[in-house]
Amino acid sequence: MGAARIQVDDKRMINCRADLNQLVPFKYDWAWQKYLDACANHWMPQEVNMAKDVSMWRSADGLTEDERLIVMRSLGYFSTADSLVANNLVLAIYRHITNPECRQYLLRQAFEEAIHTHAYQYCIESLGIDEGEVFNMYREVPAVARKAAWSLSHTHSLSNPLFKTGTPEDDQHLLRNLIGFYAVTEGIFFYCGFTQILSMGRRNKMTGVAEQFQYILRDESMHLNFGIDVINQIKNENPHLWTAEFQQEVIQMILEGTQLEIEYARDTMPRGVLGMNAAMMEEYLQFIANRRLVQIGLPEQFPGVKNPFPWMSEIMDLRKEKNFFETRVTEYQTGGALAW
Ligand code: FE
Repeated sequence: MGAARIQVDDKRMINCRADLNQLVPFKYDWAWQKYLDACANHWMPQEVNMAKDVSMWRSADGLTEDERLIVMRSLGYFSTADSLVANNLVLAIYRHITNPECRQYLLRQAFEEAIHTHAYQYCIESLGIDEGEVFNMYREVPAVARKAAWSLSHTHSLSNPLFKTGTPEDDQHLLRNLIGFYAVTEGIFFYCGFTQILSMGRRNKMTGVAEQFQYILRDESMHLNFGIDVINQIKNENPHLWTAEFQQEVIQMILEGTQLEIEYARDTMPRGVLGMNAAMMEEYLQFIANRRLVQIGLPEQFPGVKNPFPWMSEIMDLRKEKNFFETRVTEYQTGGALAW
């Protein structure tokens, strides 16, 4: 006790020695703003009506076999991926980000990851799908397992309770985790499945599942933007970490992630389905990979690729609160007050 009061200049993204219990004064206003925006977007899975999905899933001619495969694989990948994300956030990243306004957002993000896992569980339960089959896909289905294994291998060492930042090598280790976590896992691995399910919703199929995914995607695009800001801030404060060699390594990580997602697209779309096919998805994923690279200050690796699914950006745009599937939108911004 008796230490000096916190000044803005004392604050640092990593390796900060100042008191972490003093939220203000803010240094990173963007982190606080994202916390406020995330709270304004609060939603819960049980508020989405699943009745039409249940009858479509049960009827013999509601969905084609290819469409059923997409629903199953999406639930299979995401039901465990969002748990993996939550565990990395709480058990690893939170300890090493030494800034209270960023931690405030991380706490909110952690709850959103719990809501997402809840949403997949709610879909699985509503549709009466075999839980054991879905929750084991990340071990048993190769295209799903390869993505999960990549994410685990790039994040697990940080959860070692003895890991500490403070040397250039260990700080790079944290940065590698953040890039593997935000730019690849949340920034690339979520995009084939999200696009497939949202395309289904646009065709008036499985609209409850699609609405759940729409809310999740809105949250995820904010997680990604927050992660990119954190990564860039760490780079700015610690330029010695961002060596030419490390940049090459990061480019390789993003290329590997893109390739795994392309393989997932081929596996889940053996034929054209829902107005898309694996080749279109490949171009979309290359477009996404270019964006991730540019967002962290690296050169595009797929020159000239275009976005074959421009409607995806519309869904992700947080400023547009329009109701995409013409179902209900919950306006949390205006509610939530207690009536005594
Ligand atoms: Fe997330």
